[in-house]
Amino acid sequence: MKIALIAHDERKKALITFVKEYESFFQKHELFSTGTTGLRLMENTSLKVHRFQSGPLGGDQEIGALVAKGEMDAIFFFRDPLTAQPHEPDVNALLRLCDVFHVAVATNIQTAKAVVKFYS
Ligand code: PGA
Repeated sequence: MKIALIAHDERKKALITFVKEYESFFQKHELFSTGTTGLRLMENTSLKVHRFQSGPLGGDQEIGALVAKGEMDAIFFFRDPLTAQPHEPDVNALLRLCDVFHVAVATNIQTAKAVVKFYS
């Protein structure tokens, strides 16, 4: 499966903790990420991640393009619900495309665990 991992700054620690807990699951899949999230993941795990631009510079849109082409199977997007993001339109666009193309998207830890369980 092709899986994208994205986290806003306040949620990066939570995503890394989550991915480490399920590292054996993520090892079996092709991973994509926005720039800084991908860098942090590779610094903190043994996973190899294809990094796009940082989110505010278009990374969410690059991942959205894969969704639109039917080339993304699931997204773990730990977004920050308490801080305004300069690229909020990009975030909404990505979530919208996931709904258009029926791509599983987990935006919090409980849903993320459920998605991992579903695809394990
Ligand atoms: P980042 O982007 O991984 O480059 O921080 C994430 C985002 O803000 O969408």
